[in-house]
Order: sequence, then C-alpha cells, then structure tokens
Amino acid sequence: MFNLIIFGAPGSGKGTQSAKIATKYHFTHISTGDIFRKEIKNQTPLGKRVKEVIDSGHLVSDELLIEIIEKAMDDDDNSHGFIFDGFPRTLRQARDMDVMMHRHKECVSLVLALDVDRQEIIARLLNRAKEQGRVDDTEEVICKRLEVYQNQTSPLIDYYKNQGKFISINGVGTLEGIFAEICRVVDPYLAVN
Ligand code: AMP
Repeated sequence: MFNLIIFGAPGSGKGTQSAKIATKYHFTHISTGDIFRKEIKNQTPLGKRVKEVIDSGHLVSDELLIEIIEKAMDDDDNSHGFIFDGFPRTLRQARDMDVMMHRHKECVSLVLALDVDRQEIIARLLNRAKEQGRVDDTEEVICKRLEVYQNQTSPLIDYYKNQGKFISINGVGTLEGIFAEICRVVDPYLAVN
C-alpha cells in the first residue's frame, strides 16, 4: 500500500494537487480540513467542538486527529493507497501516525512537500478568501495559520528527512506543471513497490 503525505504551508496547493493525484493513481484522498469543514457544516458534535479553534486559525487537538485518520482509513480499507492532505501537522501527530501505521503493518511511503514562498502564500490565501469565502482565510487568521505552520508543522520536515522520506518540489508554476513534477517523483516509487 502506498501512503503519501502531501506537505506544505496553508495555500501551497496541497488540496488541489491531492485531488489530481488521487484521481490519477486511484488513491483515497484524506483531507482533515475537508473532514472538519463537513462536520462543521452538518453541525455534528465534532463539528461544534472544533469550529471555534478552526475559525481562529489554531490547530485541533492532537488526540482527535489520529482517531479521525484511523476511521477514514477503515472506511476505505479496500483502497490500495492513501494521500494524506493536511495531516500530520505536529510532531505528536507524526509519531501517532507511525505507531498506528505500524499496528496495521503499514508505513508512510513518501512525504512530498510543495515549496511556496511566504509572499506568494499570503497572496493566494487572500485570493481564496475572496473566491471561496472560507472563514479562516481573513488576513488576521491567515497570519495566525502561517505562524502555527512555522512553529508546529515545519519541524516535521526534519522528522521525515531523518527517515529519508522527504522530497520537496517547487510549488510555484502552472497547476499541470507542478502535477507533472509530482508524477515524476511518485511514479518510480510505484514501479518498485
Ligand atoms: P486545512 O484545510 O488543511 O488548512 O485545515 C483547516 C483547519 O482545520 C486548520 O487550520 C486546523 O484548524 C484544522 N486542521 C486540519 N488538519 C489538522 C491537523 N492535522 N491537526 C490539527 N488541526 C487540523
């Protein structure tokens, strides 16, 4: 089973590229942000619990995340690959994920990072705010989310580099150009695995 983490700052294009990867390789796309937005929209107990945290740009507590991921994987246990978009976001989540994967006799296959500079990220997020009207895309919340990314998520780069699983690609360019680059990295893994 191929377990791919797509990594990058908010606005780096993870969601868009994950959807394309999922279609091409027939992977199940697990986006924790999408899962939370759906729960909030449906006003479920989980949605009500996380709404305020998400609207403020902070992270949902680690304990909730691994449960959500495990459930999403169980829901699609015939899948021959998963793409994790927006997870893990903290060292604790990455370690929990390794333990959970190990229990299922699986492992993280590859961490593919979309590299986009800060100025471009802010411009994209402000634009997304206009187009999609996401509550967490206001200028103030964007700054908070980038700060959270810097402090809590970017340490994962070294975590996965130490495991020899981290590959970074240029996340600035055309959608198709970036996707072609992703495929160039992913294809050889699938040929071997
Ligand atoms: P995203 O669409 O991936 O940017 O996620 C939107 C929001 O959902 C984030 O700003 C967090 O508040 C929350 N969220 C999504 N994934 C995670 C995660 N792995 N850990 C904690 N919070 C998360």
